[in-house]
Order: sequence, then C-alpha cells, then structure tokens
Amino acid sequence: MKKSAKNAKTNTKTNANSNNNSKKFLPWIIGICCILGCMALRNVSESTVSSSVSSVDENSSDSDNFRDELWGEDSSDDNSESSGNNSTSNEFFQPPADDSTKTPITVPPVEDDQTTTQSTTKTPDTAPPVANNTTTQIITEAPTSEPSLGNMTVHFIDVGQGDSTFIELPDGKTMLIDAGERDKGDIVTTYIYSLGYDTLDYVIASHAHSDHIGGLPDVISSFNVNNFYLTAMAADTKIYEDMLIAVDNSGAKTRVVTAGDYIINESSLSAFVAAPVSLTNENQNNNSIVLKLTYGENVFLFTGDAEKEEEDSIRSNIKCDVIKVGHHGSTTSSSSNFLKKTEPTYGVISCGMGNSYGHPTQTILDRYKNAGIKLFRTDLQGTIIFTSDGKNLTANVSPTNNFTPGAVTSQTTTQKPAQATQKPAVTTTIQQTDPPTEGGTTYVLNTSSKKIHFADCSSVDRMSEKNKAYTNDYEGAIAQGYTPCQNCNP
Ligand SMILES: [Zn+2]
Ligand SMILES: [Zn+2]
Repeated sequence: MKKSAKNAKTNTKTNANSNNNSKKFLPWIIGICCILGCMALRNVSESTVSSSVSSVDENSSDSDNFRDELWGEDSSDDNSESSGNNSTSNEFFQPPADDSTKTPITVPPVEDDQTTTQSTTKTPDTAPPVANNTTTQIITEAPTSEPSLGNMTVHFIDVGQGDSTFIELPDGKTMLIDAGERDKGDIVTTYIYSLGYDTLDYVIASHAHSDHIGGLPDVISSFNVNNFYLTAMAADTKIYEDMLIAVDNSGAKTRVVTAGDYIINESSLSAFVAAPVSLTNENQNNNSIVLKLTYGENVFLFTGDAEKEEEDSIRSNIKCDVIKVGHHGSTTSSSSNFLKKTEPTYGVISCGMGNSYGHPTQTILDRYKNAGIKLFRTDLQGTIIFTSDGKNLTANVSPTNNFTPGAVTSQTTTQKPAQATQKPAVTTTIQQTDPPTEGGTTYVLNTSSKKIHFADCSSVDRMSEKNKAYTNDYEGAIAQGYTPCQNCNP
C-alpha cells in the first residue's frame, strides 16, 4: 500500500503543476480546452490515484476553486463520501468511492496493526476452522493478557454433578478436559468465550460417561478445535456417538492415548498421560485418562473417574500439588495408597450440590483432611480457579472448611435442581445370595456390620455366610448406609 501511494503522489504532483501552468497562460476563451484538459486529467487521476494525497492539496487550491465551479454537483457528493480520509478539501482526487474501496483491497498483507483486522478475528463464530494466528491475536487482546503471559490458569468449572476443566496454558494455548453433562455444554462454552477464546488447542475426553463427555458435542461444535484425545475404549451410547460426530465435523486431529503418551512435551510444560495403563470392559471409570500437567515446579493431576484399580495400576511418578479428586469424591477412588503416591497439597472435588450419589463421601473428605490436604469443592464454592507462574500457586478462594458429605447437604440446602437422572437402583443391585458373575467390581457387604469390602479382603473369609451380600453398585451401598472397610479400602 505504501508503495502505490508514493507513486500516486508523484503522478498527481506532476498533473497539478501542469494544470496551474495552463491556468496562468490561458484566458477565459480557452475555457473549453481547459474543461477538456480537466476531463482528461480526471480520467488519469482516477486510474492512478488509489489513496488521498495531502501534498496535492497544498499546491492546487487555485485549480480546486476553478473546478468547484465546473464540477459543483460531483464535488459535493464526493466530499461527503471522502470525509473519512485525511484530505478533505481536494475533490479532484477524490473519486472517493474508489478510494475507500480500493485501499483495503490492495493493502491486506501490510496491515498488521490495523484495528479492523483484530476486530474481525475476535468474533468467535466467524473465525475460520484452523487459525493459529487467530489464537495468538485473541489472547493478546484478552484483558489479562500482558500480566498473565507466562502464567497457567486452571479453571475447575462448576458444572454441577460432573467434571469440566479449562486450562489457559502458559504458552497461550488452551486445553479442555471434559465438559459435564449434555445440558452443561452451554455453560462451558459461555465460560470459555467470556475469557476471550474461540479456539481449543487440546480437548480431552477423560472417559465415556455422560457427566464428562455430555457437554462435549456442544462445545466442540462451538469452537475451533485443533486436537482431540480419547482412549481406545468406546461406548455404545448416543452421547458418545454424538461426540465422535462433533469431533469429525470439527476437523480436529484425533489421537488415542494411553499411559506413557505425551500430549505436550516441552522443557517447562508437559502434559503426560499416566493412565490408563490397560483398558477394561467392566468399568468405564477405570479407563479414565489420568493426566499429569506440569508447568515448571507446579504439577496438576487430573484423574477423571479413575477408581482404586486404575489408581493402583499407575507406575509413573504422579506426585502433584493439585489433584482433581477422583470420581467426584466417591469412595471408589482416592485410596490411601493413591494419596501417598500423589502427595497433593490441594484437592478439588467437582460435584453437584444435591447429587444423588452422595458425592463427596464422608470417608473421602476425612481421608483428605487427615492427610492434611486442603480441599476445594465446586458444589459449595462454585468454579475453582488456580493460577501458577511455574513456581507459586494461587487460588481464587480459600480452601473449604466444610467437610459435610454431599448426601447430607443435598436434601436441605439445595440451590440447584438435583441431578436425579442416574439415581442408582440400590435395592435391585444388592444381591443377598450369590456373587454376581459379570459386570463391574464385586463388593462384599456385611449386612450385620454394614461394612463394604473387596472380595479378596481377609475380613470376608471370616464373615458369616448369612451376613454376606454382594453388589457391583458401590455408591448404592454407600447410600444405603454401608461404610468402606478400613482394611481393604474399597
Ligand atoms: Zn464422573
Ligand atoms: Zn465415570
């Protein structure tokens, strides 16, 4: 653009000088010639001038007045249209309609600082599918961009009973792990939009349950998604199918991951898949992607709904500062061994107030409390936000002092509608006779002491047959008042 404007300047200067000369030497009689000359001149300038030129204004005020008389009508029209340009007095060079349309068309490559360019990329729904440039620009426009450059911010979004974690990575990219139930897709989308993003660089589906992937179809179809990660264990459900369709439509690169894989592997930033080590048909929770996200000295561990079996299978170093408490604080997860292996300083429990599972359970709350781990709860505190500069961690709220389990608060202080869709049918899943032969972990209940055990617990051997009952439904049993055996820690 700058080059063509320069050329235009030179040409128009020459033209204006010759115009002045003709005026000096030619009297009224040659008016017609002058008109013809001006017309010719006008044609030339239309074809060569592509932007308004101020130097011409300074040299040609006489000829301007002259032309005003001759081109009165045109001049006024042109004037109004050219008011946005720097030169406002020189109608002669003003085929303004041309001016304003030509400029942007001929210029785009040089326009790095133009505000118009930025404002278009900011609009989320018009952004093209793959846009690295877009990401960068959007982030530099975010209000907190300058100070937060180099920070990593982890948002445990309050999606009621479910999980959704959005991460602003320190390199300006974005990661989303899960998106709550299907009806929470909107909440997640709005939340991320409001932070100024229209692109998700990494989207991870921890496992196939609807309280994790339910919102993903909505979210994926609302953003530019660059990479999508899942495990090889599919599910024969509508929501799972919908998720795959959305991913397919998004054009995201899809990758199946397993323990040992890296999603990000840079010197001070890594996202390491610690599990699943192996897959199981019996319990989708134990196929959860367990992700260790390390930034400098700070480590976050995202556990999905991994239960004790999967926790025990992890062989890599999973020491962390912040743990997303497994399975919403259910007693199936957060085994004592796991807490020893992870040694978190903080734990975040993502669950819905009034959830029908009684999450988080008293056992787990006590276990974290007794280990000196400070807890945060989305059911009581809403969205929990951690910020890391690679060394220090800060949170948007103080850890909770409320160690009341989910089931108790749910009936009395519910502020949101209870998520009653998956209430376990306790009475049908507890079998009073023989052990179930298939499906899920089999727990042995002591109907007398109201304890729940793993089948291989030594206490089970000593248990009287008439007190034994069996179930696959751990949470159902807990809801019925059973407590986990302190010995086998189910
Ligand atoms: Zn879950
Ligand atoms: Zn699950």
